[in-house]
Amino acid sequence: MKEIKLRMFFDAHCHLRTERILSNMIPFIAVYASKVIVMPNTRPRAILTGDDVIWYRNEIQKALRGNKMPFEPLMTIEIRDNTTPQTVEEAKKAGVVAGKAYPLGVTTNSDEGLRDFFSGEITDTFQAMEDIGMLLLIHGELDGEKILVTEREKNFIPVLVKLSERFPKLKIVFEHVSTKFGVYMVEQLGENVAATITVHHLCLTLNDVIGYGIKPHNACMPIPKTFEDRDALIEAATSGNPKFFLGSDSAPHFRNKKECFVGACGIFSAPVVPALLAEIFEKEGRFNRLEAFTSANAAKFYGQPLSEEKITLVKKDWVVIEEIDGIVPFMARQKLYWEQVL
Ligand SMILES: [Zn+2]
Repeated sequence: MKEIKLRMFFDAHCHLRTERILSNMIPFIAVYASKVIVMPNTRPRAILTGDDVIWYRNEIQKALRGNKMPFEPLMTIEIRDNTTPQTVEEAKKAGVVAGKAYPLGVTTNSDEGLRDFFSGEITDTFQAMEDIGMLLLIHGELDGEKILVTEREKNFIPVLVKLSERFPKLKIVFEHVSTKFGVYMVEQLGENVAATITVHHLCLTLNDVIGYGIKPHNACMPIPKTFEDRDALIEAATSGNPKFFLGSDSAPHFRNKKECFVGACGIFSAPVVPALLAEIFEKEGRFNRLEAFTSANAAKFYGQPLSEEKITLVKKDWVVIEEIDGIVPFMARQKLYWEQVL
């Protein structure tokens, strides 16, 4: 195959950021995705309420000026200990489709994450979300005493199981699943549970982060793990199972924030997302399931219409640029084999 056409993607997990990063990096997503789930962990202003969402959506629209393709940001709020049923109801009126919960301290800007997923107050909030049809997105890792970074996802699974049973109609997305066990559990749990998979977790193992020198631009949370885990993710992504869909977790950080004493976690994958997916699905002989993963499964889970617009990829070698406006993209300096026609 020399050329493929795909419906524009539904990228179910994106960090668009604010200000200069927002305006300079959004074009890299807008060329392939017509709908994105926008993560709310911006700083200094986090997205916590309907008012925050109105402000942030405006900032995104400003950054999109001149964009020719359809692009719809689907907004989310952070769910914190003090998020009330009233907050989520107001957010819903402002167009919010989902609430994102970060367990305390597991990733970038999760310093005010949830302390307890089952306190009386927060279960009232989850109940309200279930009642109004707002999705719950979870960064599924839990830190703890003597819990290695590689074990955090496994450590979180009991919380996921309990939540899915307690709120059987609450749609839950287990974000950026990174282990074979996580994939297995998502398969086993009810129809209300799905998972996003990033492109970088389909490519990397822990070896690519610390196995051959420290590679800060491959550092992300959850940390990439074993070959067995990566293969299980590839199998899930290419299976056609509607519970698994693309969430690139494209997360730009300036180079000096990655190459420093305590480097930020997060990978700016947007410039290579379509090319890498074509390569992976081609290798698996599963081109026929690519569009389900990139565009259809997430739209269905979120109850959104399928994109009518298409993008075209052609088989053509190219080398990924080393830096874009101070940000090093995923696979910088490496050769890829598919390229989007722009
Ligand atoms: Zn993320």
